[in-house]
Amino acid sequence: MAKANPSLLRRLLKGIPIPILALLFGLVTGLAVWVYLDRTQTRVLAEIFGEELENQLHQRAREGLIRFDQYQQSYVTVIRLLANHRRLAAYLGTPRWDSDGGEVYRYEHQPPPWLPDDDVWSGVIQPSHLLLIDRQGRVREEYRLRGQAVPAELMRDPSQFLTARHRQSRLTKLDGQPYLVISEMVEDPAGAVTGWLMLLVPVDSQFLGASQQRVGSADAVVALVDADTALVLSSSDATRLPQGARLAEFERDFVVTAQSFFDYDDSDLNLLFATLVPRAGIEATGQRVLDLERRQRLTGAGLIILVFVLLFVLLSSRLNRLLRRVAQFSRRALDMEQPLVTQGNQLLILEDWIRDFVALVLRGREEMRARHETEMRESEALTAALMNTSLDSIITIDQRGRIIEFNPTAQRIFGHEREFALGRSLDTLLLARESRAAFKQQLYESLARGRDDADPTRFELRAVNGDGVSFPVELAIKPMLLHDRLLFTVYVHDISERKRQEAEIKSLAGFPSESPIPVLRVNRPGVVIYANGPSEPLLRHWGCHRLQTLPVYWKSQVQSVLDEGRTRELELRTDEGIYSLLLAPVRELGYVNIYARDITKVREAEEEARRRQNELIHVARLSTMGEMATGIAHELNQPLSAIVNFANGIARRLKLGVGDKTDLLHALEQIAGQANRAGEIIKRLRGMVSRQQPVREEADLNALVEEVCAILGHETRKLDLTVERRLFPAPLTIRADPVQIEQVLLNLMRNALDALQELPPAARRLAISSGALGQEAVYVAVHDNGKGIRPHVMERLFDPFFTTKKDGMGMGLAITQTIVADHHGRIRADSVPGQGTTFTLELPAVVQSAKSMAS
Ligand code: ADP
Repeated sequence: MAKANPSLLRRLLKGIPIPILALLFGLVTGLAVWVYLDRTQTRVLAEIFGEELENQLHQRAREGLIRFDQYQQSYVTVIRLLANHRRLAAYLGTPRWDSDGGEVYRYEHQPPPWLPDDDVWSGVIQPSHLLLIDRQGRVREEYRLRGQAVPAELMRDPSQFLTARHRQSRLTKLDGQPYLVISEMVEDPAGAVTGWLMLLVPVDSQFLGASQQRVGSADAVVALVDADTALVLSSSDATRLPQGARLAEFERDFVVTAQSFFDYDDSDLNLLFATLVPRAGIEATGQRVLDLERRQRLTGAGLIILVFVLLFVLLSSRLNRLLRRVAQFSRRALDMEQPLVTQGNQLLILEDWIRDFVALVLRGREEMRARHETEMRESEALTAALMNTSLDSIITIDQRGRIIEFNPTAQRIFGHEREFALGRSLDTLLLARESRAAFKQQLYESLARGRDDADPTRFELRAVNGDGVSFPVELAIKPMLLHDRLLFTVYVHDISERKRQEAEIKSLAGFPSESPIPVLRVNRPGVVIYANGPSEPLLRHWGCHRLQTLPVYWKSQVQSVLDEGRTRELELRTDEGIYSLLLAPVRELGYVNIYARDITKVREAEEEARRRQNELIHVARLSTMGEMATGIAHELNQPLSAIVNFANGIARRLKLGVGDKTDLLHALEQIAGQANRAGEIIKRLRGMVSRQQPVREEADLNALVEEVCAILGHETRKLDLTVERRLFPAPLTIRADPVQIEQVLLNLMRNALDALQELPPAARRLAISSGALGQEAVYVAVHDNGKGIRPHVMERLFDPFFTTKKDGMGMGLAITQTIVADHHGRIRADSVPGQGTTFTLELPAVVQSAKSMAS
């Protein structure tokens, strides 16, 4: 419960924004301070005020007393005037009373003759009695101004009331009443005492009131008080302070100031002069003053509190904003995903947040430490495991080179027990004699370098194992500081195997140099970085040496092979021979290996074969032409006969002298025509038989068909056959050797004619059609309705020397196929036995656009 409360309070405070808290706090604090200060100040002020009031009252009382004194002094003045008045002096020369008599003359309504006529009591209240006393001190005349009898007490012995010259007034009580008794000596002109004049004034309300002349507070009351009994003898206001009242009873309603009469100390009375001021008035005034002062104080305090609270609220709202921004910034800076609380007390929210964050950091640090320790332990275990399982010998030595740790690998490789090795010098125990100096030098350098983090340098030495066998090792010395002691870890790696492999690689590297065929290596920029001896003819052809750049074409070939990453085979004709070059890319190293093969002989053999093939084709053609010789001769015979006839006719006409010039010209034209025809036939014949090197030129397939039909004109006529020509209306351009293509067509048509021979003439049909197969190819088909080809013949149709004919050679279709293959074409036979055969020849067309571009 005790724990729940603060968190409850905290939760409550957290929900209130700082400015509102500041406002509440400011108001409460201001109120508390106000309450405390108000009480204290009011008390202090009341005290000060009371003191001040008391002082003022005392002052007023003193003034009252002084006024009382001054008032009674005016009686002294009056009595002195009366006593020195000539009328009294004259009267006392002859008084109405004799020197011994005891009768007292009394004036009641008439003033005595010794009194001046003028009003002597104008400034003061009339006394009650005026007495004339003789030299013996006896009262001889009395003037009753208020009609009262002279107090008996005075009459019994008036002399005791006669005052000394220096003090003429005296306060006394006569018959229970306080009286002011004033006496004055009367002297004759010679200075002898003739009597006394005595004045009695009752100190009553009237006297006291007159003495104060209504100066000061109207409410104030002055009184004569018997100091012994504290009873009031008389007062200026008998109704409020009646005679005989006890003064103490009035202290509740009045503030009483009592003073003794210093100047009347020869009085037989112990009197006090009391001034009474009503409390109600004083307190009301005091309260009014206090209230006024308090109101002003309240206003002031309220203003100050208001200003401070406003300032406080202003500052705290500023602080609130600042804290919120700090929270935002820090959250963003720490990349925290906590929801942002924008309401409530940002200070407490930030404090909570910081506490959470610190807890998070502490926990993180704790986890880090734990992880670090685990890692340390793991790392130590790992180090130990590494030491034990390392493939290298790991040996720790001190600065003098003595072994202080020797791992299991070292024990195995060197054949020494750890205990044996510890304490011994590494160099004498493990190194060959010639390597010790070098090791010491390295150790010295490591010592000089001290502990730095640079990679240790590796160096090769020769080590010796326990059996005295020497082997190559690689050493690295790494300094380390252990408990302020500089030690060295020496890693010893047995490199026997590596050395062997290096030697092997070296010998392998010698391979290309021993190769009888050219081997080259070219990098991407085309520089020949290696070329073996047999590469010389290639380098000569390229006009470059090793470490020089290849010609542009070959450079670009190398680069494109590298880019494609595929081997490429290229042919190179040099003056010294023909080479087939295999370009093999090694992309990861950025170069191309070139393996060259001298194919001069191969190419020569191919050339020879081609030549022989041509010869064969030519021979076959010759053979065909030979077979056709009779027909051709017959064909040739016709124009020749015609020429002879026309020539004879002309001769005859010329001899006879008949015929006109027109007839002769016509005959001559006929001769020329027939001669041309014969010439055509011979030209064709020559074309077919003349030994030509194979060529490639553009030719129209349709024209070739027409030519062949013309050559075969005699044979078709012999068979009573008209060749049906269904040719493509436009030229079908091919790139070919025209004579060889004619040879092919000739073969196909002659085979067809052979197949048609067995049919009755009317049934024989031979058709040639041509056309285009898209853009790429053209075709020509030779169709006959002969006996057809049986399947077993079909299988061997194109085999050389295969024939079903009695006098056949069986080379026609074989050579046809060779020619077609040479022209990158195809030939196909379709036959239905008994119905006929169609041979279709397809050849690549010269693409029209390419052609137009070429032109
Ligand atoms: P040859 O004509 O000398 O026999 P070919 O190689 O020209 O040699 O022909 C081989 C064989 O193909 C012929 O013997 C024949 O049996 C067959 N042959 C070729 N063309 C036709 C054809 N149009 N109709 C029927 N058989 C044919």
